Amino acid sequence: MIMLKTLDEIDIMEANGAIVVECFALAREFIKPGRTRKELDAAIEKLIVARGGKPAFKGFHGYPASTCISVNDEVVHGIPDERAFQEGDLVGLDIGVFKDGYYVDSARTIPVGRVSKDAEKLLETTWDALEKGIEQARPGNRLTDISHAVEVRARKSGFAVVRSLVGHGIGKRMHEDPQVPNFGPPHQGPVLEEGMVLAIEPMVNVGTADVFTLEDGWTIVTADRKLSAHFEDTVAVTKDGPRILTR
Ligand code: MG
Ligand code: MG
Repeated sequence: MIMLKTLDEIDIMEANGAIVVECFALAREFIKPGRTRKELDAAIEKLIVARGGKPAFKGFHGYPASTCISVNDEVVHGIPDERAFQEGDLVGLDIGVFKDGYYVDSARTIPVGRVSKDAEKLLETTWDALEKGIEQARPGNRLTDISHAVEVRARKSGFAVVRSLVGHGIGKRMHEDPQVPNFGPPHQGPVLEEGMVLAIEPMVNVGTADVFTLEDGWTIVTADRKLSAHFEDTVAVTKDGPRILTR
């Protein structure tokens, strides 16, 4: 069942989104060659807690860290460890905040120094795919109008979207109905209504769409070990159009 949110609830989620925005600003300063994933995770956790929030991923299904940090061929759910960032890395950073009864969820992929042409094109494409998806998040459209717009944009660059992982509704729970795929034909699924809040999150791969899970049980990587990028925003469907709560 899709839980509709009131304006008051959406305002709370937007306030939580402001914490996430601050976290990404910190991350962009923090991520440098030599700094480790674990150090970044600790810095983000500290900031979330200082703002009165809870890192939403910590303990979620037993997840052992506050953020997910997925570098280069890692798609999502990378566990922060002692590995250091290197010039040319693409650092996928996924952050969830829980505060005042509500979750928000957002991801950015941040380049370390100068990255390859392929990597640049992947970042631009994935960001733009997110934008194209968000544009469709308005009353009267149907759910897969979002999905289709994302896939069309990724394919235009010759890239593939990951199919085994999807976006989701979000609110009092981190994962609510509906699932939001990043692929498929348009004009299907539930009609979008005012008060729906969706985490829209394209994961785009330079090579194959296929992925697998590493032995740590969490980290998802591309099957061909080529680059992947991930951007995510929490977006409310309103009568005036999409309202992005995590920017
Ligand atoms: Mg996320
Ligand atoms: Mg999400």
